[in-house]
Amino acid sequence: MRLPRFDYLGPETLDQTLDLLATHKDDAKILAGGTDLLVRMKKGLLKPKTLISLKALNELSYINKKDGCIKIGARTSIADIIASDLIQKKAKALFQACEKIGAITIQHDRGTIGGNILQDNRCHHYNQSDFHRSGRQACHKDGGKICYAREEADRCNSTCQSDGATALMTLNAKIILARKGGERTMDLADFYTTDGIMPFAMESHELLKEIIIPIGGAQSAYKRLAYRSAIDYPIVCAGVLLKLSDTQKNEIDDVRIVVGAMGRSPLFLAQASSSLKGKKLSDTVAFKRAADIAMDNASTFAVHNVGATLEYRCAMVSQMVFQALEQAALAARE
Ligand SMILES: Cc1cc2nc3c(=O)[nH]c(=O)nc-3n(C[C@H](O)[C@H](O)[C@H](O)COP(=O)(O)OP(=O)(O)OC[C@H]3O[C@@H](n4cnc5c(N)ncnc54)[C@H](O)[C@@H]3O)c2cc1C
Ligand code: SF4
Repeated sequence: MRLPRFDYLGPETLDQTLDLLATHKDDAKILAGGTDLLVRMKKGLLKPKTLISLKALNELSYINKKDGCIKIGARTSIADIIASDLIQKKAKALFQACEKIGAITIQHDRGTIGGNILQDNRCHHYNQSDFHRSGRQACHKDGGKICYAREEADRCNSTCQSDGATALMTLNAKIILARKGGERTMDLADFYTTDGIMPFAMESHELLKEIIIPIGGAQSAYKRLAYRSAIDYPIVCAGVLLKLSDTQKNEIDDVRIVVGAMGRSPLFLAQASSSLKGKKLSDTVAFKRAADIAMDNASTFAVHNVGATLEYRCAMVSQMVFQALEQAALAARE
């Protein structure tokens, strides 16, 4: 498979990059590490006229602590996140998610956290070569009118398999989107549309600039399941953020449960989360109940388009959530 032809632009500053995005709009794509984008281009899923590279933008590569938050530049490599003491101590779920992304070559040589969040949704009916797809009718995401993953579906239900996005939504992260002449800040949880074709609420002239993680007194944990321990996307993953009561010893004040690889975006599961309010850290029966509620709720979003069967993935939601809860509870106890 060969890359299609494209123009390559290498701006040296953020301002130059935003100027180029404002000029080229829909004709251009940002190239960060290229580990998602170039694969899609080789498969003929995307044919941008122009690539605008972030290679020279060291100003978008940083991790620091400011105003009670961790701030991460969008071009920061996955390897730098894994190596950061601050992330390991204060944003454990992100550390654990990044450790599992792809393989060392993707983490160290190319992959960025911005690219990880903005990787396109996937579906095994769609993420195939031109040749493979030419043997059948086009689905919604390919410009057609049918869906192979869910009969009668009037929209695309491709799946978000980003480990980073699931962990960051668990941690209640915000993002900053920059454009020529301005920027806007939004909760990562509000960044998703309900359409697998265009999963992100972002304009083509905008750039993901920064990720902001609030540092509270909470503990977090992340668990994921994939067929192989490396070079494989999650088929189910779950993050938990757990805060203890200030007044009642070992009592849970607040929990946030997010499940990934089960829908068009990571799923914040409100009912499962709130079921744990006021429970004791040692109450594993309540953990199991919350994990089962998470499984029931997450199952309504998933379609059979990622690796394992739908039944298996749904059953494993409960396991991943339970394990993440136990791990976060253990960290809180310590
Ligand atoms: C073999 C293999 C295994 C993988 N395994 C995993 C895995 O286990 N878990 C996982 O989560 N991912 C996995 N990935 C997906 C992906 O490669 C990584 O998530 C990686 O972090 C993507 O980062 P990148 O910088 O290479 O993104 P790119 O490919 O450069 O970009 C991805 C998308 O984001 C856009 N983009 C990038 N940065 C910005 C920005 N700052 N502003 C606006 N748009 C931007 C690009 O235009 C593109 O559409 C895997 C990929 C491969 C090839
Ligand atoms: S979910 Fe359906 S429409 Fe979307 S990529 Fe898969 S087959 Fe195509």
